[in-house]
Amino acid sequence: MKTPVPDYLASVLARCDANDGGALADYIPELAHADPNKLALALSTIDGEIYSAGDDQYEFSIQSMSKPFAYALALQHHGIEKVLEKVGVEPSGEAFNQISLDSHSNTPKNPMINSGAITTHSLIPAETGELRAEKLRAFLSEMAGRELSFDEEVYQSELKTAYRNLSIGYMLRTVGVLESDPVDIVEGYIRQCAIKVTVKDLARIASVFANGGIDPHTGKCMLDRMVVRQVLSVMISCGMYDAAGDWLTTVGIPAKSGVAGGILGVLPGQVGVAVFSPKLDEHGNSVRGIEIMERLSQDMGLHLMEGTPSAQTIVQGIYYLDEQKQIRVYELRGVLQFTETEMLLRTIQQEPDAPHSIVLDLSHITLIHDVGRRMLLEGIDRLIDDAHEVLVVDPDGLFKAETTDLGHEVKHYANIQAIPH
Ligand code: GLU
Repeated sequence: MKTPVPDYLASVLARCDANDGGALADYIPELAHADPNKLALALSTIDGEIYSAGDDQYEFSIQSMSKPFAYALALQHHGIEKVLEKVGVEPSGEAFNQISLDSHSNTPKNPMINSGAITTHSLIPAETGELRAEKLRAFLSEMAGRELSFDEEVYQSELKTAYRNLSIGYMLRTVGVLESDPVDIVEGYIRQCAIKVTVKDLARIASVFANGGIDPHTGKCMLDRMVVRQVLSVMISCGMYDAAGDWLTTVGIPAKSGVAGGILGVLPGQVGVAVFSPKLDEHGNSVRGIEIMERLSQDMGLHLMEGTPSAQTIVQGIYYLDEQKQIRVYELRGVLQFTETEMLLRTIQQEPDAPHSIVLDLSHITLIHDVGRRMLLEGIDRLIDDAHEVLVVDPDGLFKAETTDLGHEVKHYANIQAIPH
């Protein structure tokens, strides 16, 4: 059996192929030469499986889809509070290149419009614009799993006509939001926009975000969970420029578009997606890209507001490990967030008081959130108070707790067979 997903993606592309609406971006002269017929789609699951269709090897410039990643680097380096002093998180309702600041704070409204993005670019920790763009290129390359490069033609082309972004830069320098030469910063920002990607690269990068900052291919933690959360929140509210409300209701996937025709989407805990088609609507978003994302969201239920309940399936099985029925195993699967841990503790609550051992088998747990850990530790203390012994099977070391709050030792085992019985 071959999975039908690639055929499904190809059929989505075929259905959108006839849509000829929109126009090529022309304010970056080089983009006006793009082939308007290119069309591509890629989807990556959070365990790293990538499906793609259409012109999936075709490289195009990342443009504004670089903004969430520059924001992520700034947040990771400076912390959320410090970055908030420079750039807000409110949707602007204005065009992406509006020359405006928040009237109260005198700072850019959010990091997805150019004024905010130029500011977050300046917060990437490196000395010059060129080095900051390089830092972002290296970061994206690591997540894409290959060395990305810059499109020098697109870069030079945008530099020649960068009057608007330069004026934004000067304005930001005037009010003190930028703290060094605005020309160097704007040039670095334009260079970061010229990083070349394919839809497969983008889907793969997006899957790191969908996976809470852990790269599914390498297991490496690329970003803190809180940083990922912050970036995705801003993407859902501000990522699609002045069409953000429409996007949230119809597609419901945190996303960012770029004027070369790409759209990148991250559905937390589920998938990363990327589409490409160069013709844009009046907001600067890819026309066919939007149609494809709408179809994916509708056909595959990929909408943020269609949360999938996982609490009911957290306890996969309950059995005795020994013939004397003294060791009861709770076999768990999935993630331990509030709702799952609540369900687990409510199930364990029904344990008879007779002293026996309780094994929490975390072998198939993929993630333990902070709240899950705290609740579990509290539950363990209460079980011990009821004269139970609690053992934890945790081959991947996810639980990361040696003692409970009351100082009880948490007994860890690498696998279920290691438990003496
Ligand atoms: N480099 C473009 C600019 O700053 C990116 C705009 C976009 O993709 O929306 O104007």
